[in-house]
Amino acid sequence: MLIAYLDHQRQDQLQWLVSAGGSSSDEAILCALGVEEAGDVALSARDFGGVVSLWPARFLRPSTADDVARALLLAARSAGLTVAARGNGHCVGGQAMAAGGIVLDMRALGPPMSLAPGGAAVDVPGGALWSEVLEWTVRNHRMAPPSWTDYLGLTVGGTLSNGGVSGQCFRYGPQVNNVVEMDVVTTDGDRRLCSASINSDLFFAVLGGLGQFGVITRARLALLPAPKMVRWRRVVYADLETFASDAEWLVTQPDASAFNYVEGFAFLNDASDPASGWNSVPILPGSAFDPADFLAAAAASVLYCLELALYYDDRVADRVDEREEELLRRLRYVRAAEFSADVGYVAFLSRVAPVEAEARARGTWATPHPWLNVFISASNIVDFDRNVFKRVLLGGIGGPMLVYPLRRSR
Ligand SMILES: Cc1cc2nc3c(=O)[nH]c(=O)nc-3n(C[C@H](O)[C@H](O)[C@H](O)COP(=O)(O)OP(=O)(O)OC[C@H]3O[C@@H](n4cnc5c(N)ncnc54)[C@H](O)[C@@H]3O)c2cc1C
Repeated sequence: MLIAYLDHQRQDQLQWLVSAGGSSSDEAILCALGVEEAGDVALSARDFGGVVSLWPARFLRPSTADDVARALLLAARSAGLTVAARGNGHCVGGQAMAAGGIVLDMRALGPPMSLAPGGAAVDVPGGALWSEVLEWTVRNHRMAPPSWTDYLGLTVGGTLSNGGVSGQCFRYGPQVNNVVEMDVVTTDGDRRLCSASINSDLFFAVLGGLGQFGVITRARLALLPAPKMVRWRRVVYADLETFASDAEWLVTQPDASAFNYVEGFAFLNDASDPASGWNSVPILPGSAFDPADFLAAAAASVLYCLELALYYDDRVADRVDEREEELLRRLRYVRAAEFSADVGYVAFLSRVAPVEAEARARGTWATPHPWLNVFISASNIVDFDRNVFKRVLLGGIGGPMLVYPLRRSR
């Protein structure tokens, strides 16, 4: 069943849509669904970026793949009518909007998650949040997908349409590398199963396809056993060259002896910026950090932090202290400028949730976010640091400046 939310001012566009839609059965579907909810239509004209706003004619909430197929079929029959799937609207440039068209709110799509036959994968609806996937797979099966995003308030369909990168990427590749198969509704309203061997053109077009090749209604995601605990550590560097060379060394270690997660960020040598200054470095709330305790007075205006994690079940049996020490010994961070904590696996993967809560409390979560993600070759990272971090972004950006190495081979 499709449930439509319609703004009063959009009634005229609805009339146009129904007439453009053609057949009386489509008209009946649309008319039977009409529930006016102005607030929800406003939601579909907004995203996390906060710099683009496009109003749709209809904001539909499909609960089944057939609902999605009906909406796409209707659009296919109409001249010039566009459709956009909306995951959780966390893109930053209006990608999940459709001016005068149909926006599909994927969050209510079913059926619920289930373990795939064989038990090594999970079937999830395209609109499931990654936080929901984590909670369900760990609680019910002590398993979890291997590759994550930092923030989990994003949908499976949304990140699979982009890539899905985080600190596990150097081992497992981005989230798009960890998909077994998908159900996709194509732009002509067909429902198709695809994988690396079935309809593979569609499979590889949809993964990272920016929502342009069809709507993901179900994804089968690979699972691995979930660890119980995580040793989480942040270490500080005074210069990019040392930071980058250590980070690159870490991501090229054999899997058996490597960290499970490697990320990093640049931060300002400044106490006053809560989002990109010193205070963004300590792991546990309330820890004080003053670089003057560790660094020369002439330290650069931009510093770097490497963020590392080692997964374990039993600290002694898994030799976590020894394994970590073996890796840390080789690194050239500023000794003593380091923070660590042992936290549960779910808490570690959910680490951005408290940051979100703080940003909401400060009022900065809802401000415009003209964010940029760029992939830079290793040979250019020093130039990038010199010209961008140390010149353009010298005053900070009011948010995180993540920088970490990935491997082309993964
Ligand atoms: C706070 C924050 C933290 C982030 N952290 C990370 C991170 O660590 N790693 C990372 O890789 N990215 C990260 N992102 C970026 C994120 O991957 C993208 O914003 C992406 O758009 C996911 O958001 P969403 O699920 O809300 O999808 P939306 O923004 O709603 O949609 C994104 C795109 O996917 C399409 N789409 C949505 N659902 C479907 C579907 N079911 N089928 C087909 N197409 C669909 C939309 O039409 C649109 O083109 C972050 C974003 C934010 C705001």
